[in-house]
Amino acid sequence: MTRRVTIEELAAWLRARDGFALIGHVSPDGDAAGSCVAMAMALQALGKRAFVCLPGGMPAMYARYPGAEAVVRPGAPAPFAPRTAFALDVSDEGRLGDARALFDGCAERAVLDHHATNPGFGDVCLVDGARVATGELALELIEALGVPLDRAMATWLYIAVSTDSGNFSFSSTTPGTMRAAAKLLEAGVDVAGLTRALYRTRTLGKTRLLGRVLSGLEISEDGRMAWARMTDEMFAETGALREDSDGIVNDLLEIEGVEFAALAETRGAATKFSLRSKDWLDVAAQVAQPLGGGGHARAAGCTIEAPLEEALARVLARAKQALGEGKTD
Ligand code: AMP
Ligand code: MN
Ligand code: MN
Repeated sequence: MTRRVTIEELAAWLRARDGFALIGHVSPDGDAAGSCVAMAMALQALGKRAFVCLPGGMPAMYARYPGAEAVVRPGAPAPFAPRTAFALDVSDEGRLGDARALFDGCAERAVLDHHATNPGFGDVCLVDGARVATGELALELIEALGVPLDRAMATWLYIAVSTDSGNFSFSSTTPGTMRAAAKLLEAGVDVAGLTRALYRTRTLGKTRLLGRVLSGLEISEDGRMAWARMTDEMFAETGALREDSDGIVNDLLEIEGVEFAALAETRGAATKFSLRSKDWLDVAAQVAQPLGGGGHARAAGCTIEAPLEEALARVLARAKQALGEGKTD
């Protein structure tokens, strides 16, 4: 049974334990990576042993920030045998991917997350769907632990909060998000440097991939749904990395009049979807969840065990129905 806890209770739970494995989700993003690394640093500041494990490893775009070098992949040698698992930004056990054995193998397990679709797992669990990023919760937890924020920790938390909020632009951004950002700036975050690196710089491979994906864009007759495909050949031909798919779906959503955007990506025998809505459609509840996925109201995803065209047809049918049902809120 999972026990729901407050930030203070989670801090007390962590303070009483040691030997931590901090674990993020498959295809780790800035929030998963940033929340895990900052939390490892905070636990280490308390004199505890902690390491970060990310399924697939640290994304290349964050590899330059101090602390990234210590991150391990599932199955790789860990610095010690952990006894306490702590999953951050992981919306359900399936999203642990290859790190599931590490999580399950620990004597005790905690979960901190901001996905409203999270059913709750682990021994202790805190899910707050009103937060823009797990990094916002991680900052509060670090404060509750009494650990002073240093620049390295603040940089990782800024990566977490800024990436999940679309650089403080999505509707999920709250006054609390801005207050968290202010604290991170006070701790010395280089906003100009991070903004340039994270939002104003693209590898040549990703730029070419973007061109390929957008040139294959399709749109529904009523102009409310836009979708595109991303295949293995596109990655091979452009030299883009898998993580470069991050954010491309937003370019589809930016088309005038589009309410729903989907990016379909081949992943072995399965197809992975990035789903977005602009104004009112709840893509997590109305599209992703019925297809076995999850996420947030305006940004969600799912993986369907079927070839791309077949899987895409199912996603578009679901979205078309949801759009047809109209606004409910
Ligand atoms: P992405 O399009 O990969 O950036 O994902 C958007 C949001 O949907 C993120 O919050 C993810 O955590 C969530 N998400 C993506 N794929 C899945 C999945 N298969 N199951 C549950 N949540 C997902
Ligand atoms: Mn995430
Ligand atoms: Mn997140």
